[in-house]
Amino acid sequence: MPVGTQKDYYKILGVARQVKPEQIRKAYRRLARKHHPDLNPGNKAAEEKFKQIQEAYEVLGDEKKRKIYDQYGFYADNIPPGGYGTAASAEAGAPGFDFSGFDFSDLGTEAERGGGFGAAFRDLFSQFFARRREEEPERQGPTHGSDIEHHMHLGFWDAIRGTQVRITVGRQEACATCSGTGAAGGAPVTCAVCGGSGKTTRQAGAMRFALTCPQCGGSGRQRRRCAACGGAGYLRRPETFDVRIPPGVDTGSRVRVPGKGNAGVGGGSAGDLFIVTEVEAHPLFERKGDHIYLKVPVTVTEAALGARVEVPTIDGPTTIKIPPGTQSGQKLRLRGKGTPSLRANVRGDQFVEVQVVVPRVADERTKEILRELARLNPEDPRKDLKKTS
Ligand SMILES: [Zn+2]
Ligand SMILES: [Zn+2]
Repeated sequence: MPVGTQKDYYKILGVARQVKPEQIRKAYRRLARKHHPDLNPGNKAAEEKFKQIQEAYEVLGDEKKRKIYDQYGFYADNIPPGGYGTAASAEAGAPGFDFSGFDFSDLGTEAERGGGFGAAFRDLFSQFFARRREEEPERQGPTHGSDIEHHMHLGFWDAIRGTQVRITVGRQEACATCSGTGAAGGAPVTCAVCGGSGKTTRQAGAMRFALTCPQCGGSGRQRRRCAACGGAGYLRRPETFDVRIPPGVDTGSRVRVPGKGNAGVGGGSAGDLFIVTEVEAHPLFERKGDHIYLKVPVTVTEAALGARVEVPTIDGPTTIKIPPGTQSGQKLRLRGKGTPSLRANVRGDQFVEVQVVVPRVADERTKEILRELARLNPEDPRKDLKKTS
């Protein structure tokens, strides 16, 4: 059966049918890296595998296309002019459907037909109509290119100060050989989907029906695939350019580079490139949004009597005042000493958390002084714990 010859995109990406979109994306990235032609020069098998991975991801990576693929077992980009049916049959309300393949023996009584059968049927039709509405404008007017996400690892200081980075991104460009149509010149060949019959069989619940083949529009013949792009209509080409990373990016920030996404089709503008940053941690400074947190140890006497201590900031060292009677865990705020904000021309703050370090006392003289201290300060720090009832 022609349907059975369709490629199993899930198998190609090595994922189960129910997986979440992230898992599909992950599987695609891993396989695309492994089989990338740049890493396997002259390896025809890797090249073919890479093409298949691209094709599978084109469909499964797109929520709408994946839904159609899940429903019908295939997805075709090059829908014939006029969509799935003729004008006459569209007026009749059933564009492109051929009921000759129905097994009416399964339909049961009139009453039963109104329920399960009708519902399954309407569902199938609505899918086809929805698909026609979605896809038809794409084939006519210019189409805006899709966006690309590129992940980038950045050092702590580069993220705070901003930087310029040279990156290489694989961008889709319309195939010059076929002008983006995906078809090669020359005489048409037998349609690979329907084997030349012009019809395909589909299952909807317990129903089987014959549909006009979406690949060839029922003609049973199709244009040969463009050899340069494998029928996709586009090629993925690496492009190298410099991007400016603004000061203040953090892990998960998205930096937009306009017009550096995938190329548009039919004169449509290109999509955008989004650089998603992942920023290295710093051993001392901890970032939380635009604020920076730093732990500063102080001695018991500094905390009790107050002191001026030097602390590092991202601008260099600065002196802060520890007020007398400062407790361990207390936070002091240094306004405007945080990271630059991506949203406004301001900076966050730095919070200094005081950590009181208790001395390890060995000599008798110091112990005597501390006992004297206890006699002079008989206050019970645990008095609040006694109020449990
Ligand atoms: Zn081509
Ligand atoms: Zn066909």
